[in-house]
Amino acid sequence: MIDIERLLLEFKTLLTIESPSKKEGKLAYYLADLFEALGFPSFFDKSGENTGSEVGNLIVKIPGKLNIPPLMFCAHLDTVGPCEGVEVIEEDGVIRSSGKTILGADDKAGIAVLVEIARVIKENDIASPPIELVFTTCEEIGLLGAKYLDYRLIESKLGFVLDSENPHEVINRAPSSYQFLLKVYGKSAHAGLEPEKGINAIKLLAQVVVNLPTGRLDEETTMNIGKINGGAYVNVVPDLAFVEGEMRSHKEEKLQALKEEILKVTEEIIRNYPQKIGNLPDYKIEFNSVFQAFHIPEDSQEAKLLIEAGRRAGLELTFRKKEGGSDANVFNERGIKTFILGTGMQKVHTTEEFIKISDLIASARLTLEIIRVYSENFSRNN
Ligand SMILES: [Zn+2]
Repeated sequence: MIDIERLLLEFKTLLTIESPSKKEGKLAYYLADLFEALGFPSFFDKSGENTGSEVGNLIVKIPGKLNIPPLMFCAHLDTVGPCEGVEVIEEDGVIRSSGKTILGADDKAGIAVLVEIARVIKENDIASPPIELVFTTCEEIGLLGAKYLDYRLIESKLGFVLDSENPHEVINRAPSSYQFLLKVYGKSAHAGLEPEKGINAIKLLAQVVVNLPTGRLDEETTMNIGKINGGAYVNVVPDLAFVEGEMRSHKEEKLQALKEEILKVTEEIIRNYPQKIGNLPDYKIEFNSVFQAFHIPEDSQEAKLLIEAGRRAGLELTFRKKEGGSDANVFNERGIKTFILGTGMQKVHTTEEFIKISDLIASARLTLEIIRVYSENFSRNN
């Protein structure tokens, strides 16, 4: 049923349509036209006002023949750079770029699969549930499209994001992440004339930093301090220094404990500093949630459905956790149980990115089987 030639041709076409984050318009309108020609209504939400993208998220509704709850499938429109003038090279069953740019299989492989599925449903008049296709913007710059998606437009309670590597693996678990900004305030003074009138913010911050845990803290928790800045002139005692960091864990409570530890360490060092001038030294810490953890159990109905779909597609699926965030974190947080499926893309975010054609085909077969198994199970159980 999957038309391999057609799938490949579409995939290659998509690869040549540039779509860096915030500039997804060309690709989005190409897809909107394509789905309209298939007879499937599409529309944009107003997320562009918040994401900064020139377009909103594109939502396509495939009306189902079956009167059962809808399924959502998602892929993101944007790619990282360099993505100007992608040259598509096919050899030995692999598709890659010339090496000057990324390929953009992340996530155009996912988009190509969803286009093919829509065509297969149309062409074969498949009795499917209603299907909601969501094409998000600005995934690569902080999952912004998913965060600002107009959820009133989505009815599905079960979804699949096609945005991972190995089509034999399903991601059912991902961590929470927070970023933080820690600022230390000292007092400036001329470094040569009256250094005793100053409080060196860089020195203070350094003390705080060496006392914070970093790296892999346990099997499911990490922390990093990734940026440092401060001071303005070599001959001035610096009055400001700051670091930015991030922490991730599959357990939210571990991150709450880590936040408290950061606050406690900072508080102790700053408050116990022997020299005081007015209310200085002082500090400020801001924590921002980047994404929330999710875990769909391996023995859940939804997971069993996936295993069965995989079996029919000739794939022995295994479940795996991911250490990064994706649109699926946001969907799960918003009450849509969402797995992440692999499309075959490899070495993403590099100019060596490639995809095996056989993996892309496997991803399309799996997606079609998910729809079939879901339809059968639902019709049988209700
Ligand atoms: Zn991606």
